[in-house]
Amino acid sequence: MHCPVCHEQMKIKRKDVSYNRARPTTYDRTLYHCANCDSWIKTEVPLKEILIQPDLQQPAS
Ligand SMILES: [Zn+2]
Repeated sequence: MHCPVCHEQMKIKRKDVSYNRARPTTYDRTLYHCANCDSWIKTEVPLKEILIQPDLQQPAS
């Protein structure tokens, strides 16, 4: 991850998992910090492969 402000390489400060009950989807959450300009970026990527969602299964087409 590169900083969108100063384009320096950002450092991962924290990695954890978040859960969105409205979806419902589990996200792999990562917090990045730029030491150069002190910007923070949080990414939340859905873990579709890991979470089993029997209610959301689509019928085979
Ligand atoms: Zn920066």
